[in-house]
Amino acid sequence: MKKILAILFSTFIILGGTFAFVNLKGNQSTADSAKIRIVTTNSILEDMVDQIVGDRAETYSIVKRGTDPHEYDPQPSDIEATTNADVIFHNGLNLETGGNGWFKKLTQIANKKENEHVFAASKTITPEHLTTNKEEVDPHAWLTIPNGIKYVSEIARVLKAKDPENASYYQDQLDKYVAKLQKLDREAKADFSKLPENQRYLVTSEGAFKYFGKEYGLKPVYIWEINTESQGTPEQMERVLTKIEKSDVKALFVESSVSPKSMDKVSKEADLPIYAKIFTDSLAKKGTKGDTYYSMMKWNIDKIREGLAL
Ligand SMILES: [Zn+2]
Repeated sequence: MKKILAILFSTFIILGGTFAFVNLKGNQSTADSAKIRIVTTNSILEDMVDQIVGDRAETYSIVKRGTDPHEYDPQPSDIEATTNADVIFHNGLNLETGGNGWFKKLTQIANKKENEHVFAASKTITPEHLTTNKEEVDPHAWLTIPNGIKYVSEIARVLKAKDPENASYYQDQLDKYVAKLQKLDREAKADFSKLPENQRYLVTSEGAFKYFGKEYGLKPVYIWEINTESQGTPEQMERVLTKIEKSDVKALFVESSVSPKSMDKVSKEADLPIYAKIFTDSLAKKGTKGDTYYSMMKWNIDKIREGLAL
């Protein structure tokens, strides 16, 4: 840093731009240190934070788009970003616990403490439990809009406390964002309520739609319950095919962040089409549909409604 400043300084002396140098130095220190540094474990939380902070903070997301956040191996750049972060948001609710608890280990290495630097976005959520293991909670709470609103409200609460200078800006951003999400939620409920009862089965690979099903009146059917389990075992395949046979399912869905292999098999065996790829544990690549939480939820709601109405 000193070296860079020395070079810049001599450049400006040569150019005779002493006044410009003072300005440049001022701008540089703002960009480097004044903005709060936020790390999120996945792209969904990253977008929620971005909606609140705009360009008033620096954000870094650990698990890359299109990949599974349940199990992950932190990379050197993740350790560096987490070590330098002022605030770290994780989902909590048993999401980042796969592979021997990668997130807990990461925060220990980075020397970050719960409720001081590390915050669970799901703090105010009432958890659902896994059916296969009642002791464990189901992490996929963000898949209903009312829960998404709870996540962003918690994120805004933490950021207002950590960055009081920007508190009123964060509150304004939150209010606008919540209004937009509430509108989408009202439309989704109106649409799903029109579906006949016997067509309200949502078939996916992972059982990620427990919260969603409860909120929007659909029954989730899945191959495996959570991504940390073995995926697509003969027992799981038999169970899902029996359920499909007994119901009036006309379309299947596959998530963007799992291998489509097992659902392809179900599709063949049950002779039913995979209607669409939907988003559960990750956003889409930037610049494509589903690249924000709002756009992911809108996509899911539209595709599920269309597929179930076939
Ligand atoms: Zn999942």
